[in-house]
Amino acid sequence: MRFVRFYENASVSYGILEGDEVIQVEGSIYGDTRLTDRRYPLSAVKLLAPITPGKIVAIGLNYKKHAEEVNKPLPEEPMMFLVSPTAVIGPDEPILLVNPENRTEHEGELAIVIGKQATDVPVQDALKYVCGYTNCNDISDRLLQRKDGQFTRAKSFATYKPLGPAIVTDINPDDLAIRVRVNGEIRQDSHTSDMIFNTAELVSFVSKVMTLDPGDVIITGTPSGVSPLHDGDIVEVEIDGIGCLKNAVRNKIT
Ligand code: MG
Repeated sequence: MRFVRFYENASVSYGILEGDEVIQVEGSIYGDTRLTDRRYPLSAVKLLAPITPGKIVAIGLNYKKHAEEVNKPLPEEPMMFLVSPTAVIGPDEPILLVNPENRTEHEGELAIVIGKQATDVPVQDALKYVCGYTNCNDISDRLLQRKDGQFTRAKSFATYKPLGPAIVTDINPDDLAIRVRVNGEIRQDSHTSDMIFNTAELVSFVSKVMTLDPGDVIITGTPSGVSPLHDGDIVEVEIDGIGCLKNAVRNKIT
């Protein structure tokens, strides 16, 4: 199933995307979903971020080659931090660079959307707590990241967490090709099987630190190939089986 959140006729709804058609649903995407008879062509609705997370737990250094490119040793445990959910935007919304003079980079990532409250869950049960998967672009201000020595400010500016286009429920998260293009040119080209800690291990690990609630998002780290973004760029995060998350980049006018 492919859940999308969309704006149509002055209201926000969830729908299921089937081909080029969105079928509006009622109830909760975490279980009790009912189809309605309202159907729209995809081209007639505005897609929004598919989730407004309660919290976003980010994982750093989860692909071997990315750890090498930033000269960091491989972590023995997942390296986790929180970023603000107020940074979330949807497909086709502009990323606004707050500090264009800083090096601000794309990080294409698989995002896990939690479907059921999870506390202290073992690895073998962890995927039962997942609603589905979507794409994230973990936009990161490298200058502030280095200066602060922690990541919250560098990654929490408004518009720095594009999510979407859909939450896909029936894919194997550990077997997905992931790539990022800037202005059509491939910058990141990898596979989720290259993750150091897989999806189930991450959900379990985080749930042993903090309770995860439905709608929370874990972003699972980025592969190698991160590169700076500039005013006027178009950046796309594409994950096989999920789709393409496309955003323009603009300098923020202050
Ligand atoms: Mg990241």
